[in-house]
Amino acid sequence: MSEHHVVVVGGGFGGLQLVNGLKGAGVRITLIDRRNHHLFQPLLYQVATTILSTSEIAWPIRHLYADRPEVTVLLGEVNGVDPQAKSVSLRSGMVLNYDTLVLATGATHAYFGHDEWEPVAPGLKTLEDATTIRRRVLLAFERAEVESDPAVRDAYLTFSIVGAGPTGVELAGIIAELAHFTLPKEFRNIDTRKTRVVLIEAGARVLPAFAEELSAYARAALEKLGVEVLTGTPVTQCTVDGVTVGETFIPSRTIVWAAGVQASHAARWLGVPADRAGRTIVEKDLTAPGLPDVFVIGDTASVTQENGKPVPGIAPAAKQQGAYVAKVIRARISGKPAPAPFKYFHQGSLATIGKSAAIIDFGRIKLKGWIAWWIWGLAHIYFLIGTRSRFTVAWNWLWIYLSGQHSARLITQRETMRDDG
Ligand SMILES: Cc1cc2nc3c(=O)[nH]c(=O)nc-3n(C[C@H](O)[C@H](O)[C@H](O)COP(=O)(O)OP(=O)(O)OC[C@H]3O[C@@H](n4cnc5c(N)ncnc54)[C@H](O)[C@@H]3O)c2cc1C
Repeated sequence: MSEHHVVVVGGGFGGLQLVNGLKGAGVRITLIDRRNHHLFQPLLYQVATTILSTSEIAWPIRHLYADRPEVTVLLGEVNGVDPQAKSVSLRSGMVLNYDTLVLATGATHAYFGHDEWEPVAPGLKTLEDATTIRRRVLLAFERAEVESDPAVRDAYLTFSIVGAGPTGVELAGIIAELAHFTLPKEFRNIDTRKTRVVLIEAGARVLPAFAEELSAYARAALEKLGVEVLTGTPVTQCTVDGVTVGETFIPSRTIVWAAGVQASHAARWLGVPADRAGRTIVEKDLTAPGLPDVFVIGDTASVTQENGKPVPGIAPAAKQQGAYVAKVIRARISGKPAPAPFKYFHQGSLATIGKSAAIIDFGRIKLKGWIAWWIWGLAHIYFLIGTRSRFTVAWNWLWIYLSGQHSARLITQRETMRDDG
């Protein structure tokens, strides 16, 4: 086996696709992730909203490569790169040398300079975030049930979601369905149908990455579910008591942050230029400027398409970049000419609104309604890993579709904020 050592940081969509693409390439691979699991982020909102359980959308990375002896999986957090020494350092103190380094460390949510809002308005990026949001949503109904002050009760029954991209829209739709259709029969002192779900967007419309007609359809579908959509005004304050939109204060005990993106520290580690969101500005072959042995891919890379638009921060883009870099490494190892520069192929944009409506933008073809929902559902089941997950997710969806009941409604872990019971 060749001694060429490829170190991959990040076992997300980009990192896994890269390792998969290097199968049989004759290289030694070390895959480092600070979590022991690969996470299917597109369905994270379904864990946050009691539809799916954590194990249905995440898989131990170590298990995925059990049959690839050339792949070593390490649980650890990278906190620096020395491109001159060709080494990465981990928080544990470990230092690893590489011949080729691939940084696929993703991105997280950004609070536009207001990180102090995070404790009251958690974002959705990890399994912990999803279970935190699930706990707060479920606890809000429990607190409302025993609250005697009507104003406080109403604040418990008001859920504010900041950001009307796909995640915000998906969260708002499901929380509204949960309140209006699943829970009403189970509470005695409150009418959960009176729950307010407020979706707040600073921009002019929901789902701005979609065509205007689809965006208008999504807004109408949300409003039909009882979601209040506020567009054109930014959030100016988040506290435990509520959210301020422009000048208007909305008493709301549950706020979820679904706006803004901040890349990982890859550019800082390498000492190379980054864009405004902190993404490493890479060369056409996805290497870091001046560092031909270091590739940066996925959400942490800033790549421009031929039409001048940025490659979007979505899973298919990260996977295409992972597959491309695998080809570049293979060509280098075997002494073949380098592949042509990376070219992104956009397969389409999808978003769901509740359990029976979705929109799909394939460019010339645009779909909406239940047909779009079925295509969305089949696509997501196809991209899950393993038969068990595909079967259980499909079964859960079918069950909810037929019965309206959400099964993953367990409140776990103690709430450490004011609502600690
Ligand atoms: C809630 C949500 C919903 C989404 N919905 C969709 C959707 O519907 N469709 C779609 O196409 N895309 C969606 N996306 C975006 C998509 O998930 C990302 O574009 C994709 O995950 C990017 O892949 P990546 O490999 O670059 O990063 P990630 O998949 O985020 O993987 C990064 C990995 O790096 C690890 N890591 C980070 N820092 C370190 C470190 N210092 N040391 C070690 N390991 C580290 C992380 O633990 C993680 O496993 C969604 C994202 C979110 C958060």
